[in-house]
Amino acid sequence: MNFNPLIEISNLDFSYGVKTTLENINFEIAVGKNLGIVGESGSGKSTLLKLILGILSPTSGSIRFNGSPLDLPNKDFERQFRQNVQVVFQDPYSSLDPRQRIDHLVSEPLRSLGLDRADGRDSKKARFLWREERAVEALESVGLSPDHLERYPREFSGGQRQRIAIARAIVSKPALLLADEPVSALDVTTRVLIIELLTELQETLGLTIAMVSHDLSLVATLASQTIVLEQGKIVESGATKEVLGNPAHPYTRKLLAALPRLHS
Ligand code: ADP
Ligand code: MG
Repeated sequence: MNFNPLIEISNLDFSYGVKTTLENINFEIAVGKNLGIVGESGSGKSTLLKLILGILSPTSGSIRFNGSPLDLPNKDFERQFRQNVQVVFQDPYSSLDPRQRIDHLVSEPLRSLGLDRADGRDSKKARFLWREERAVEALESVGLSPDHLERYPREFSGGQRQRIAIARAIVSKPALLLADEPVSALDVTTRVLIIELLTELQETLGLTIAMVSHDLSLVATLASQTIVLEQGKIVESGATKEVLGNPAHPYTRKLLAALPRLHS
């Protein structure tokens, strides 16, 4: 399928109550152009991702996936969207159900989207084998051994759990991966490894990644495009090199100043 742009957001406003949380948001996510969404805590980054995921609905304005509005009441469209837009959250400890084995956790999207119910896989056994095969493939893509399939989340470190969460997010072969502070809960060394993994997956799987982060150095590594959110408004956007290398807005300069590593 040829999606370009994957996501198109036009004149979006959103509020949880009386106070406006996001105001006049306009941007798109194009195939192959990783996007970084940066801003201070409370600026509306997670809310924006939830809107793109369809967990929340805009108060006004629109979000389109592959040219169609997200609220389109059409089961095929919904399935296509959910197969193609997957998410990884910050905390790999709470995002993986501790009672489930890794094979079950990683292959879950295949079951819930009914992707395993194709022609030729009419028996339970055939569907199970196919899901296991896809789970192995996904685990290998994130650098984990298939030996882990029968284990439980508690047996893994934070970095490994985040790899498992990423495996689950790519098992349906999505076009877009949304990541909300995917490495904030991890130690510094592990952060770098996970960002390297995401960069590698972008190349090997043709994945586009939109990552929310307050760590500008990680965004600079991963994303070719960056938008800067201040109190629910986009104050700056464009090529990451420009936005972070030559910031036009005082708020972006303030974010950069809080991060001495980038200047060294
Ligand atoms: P960020 O991810 O950038 O830290 P959020 O999107 O979580 O920001 O929050 C943006 C604003 O919306 C904050 O002021 C926050 O308090 C508010 N907010 C977030 N979630 C809710 C909610 N479920 N109900 C009401 N207000 C919320
Ligand atoms: Mg957040």
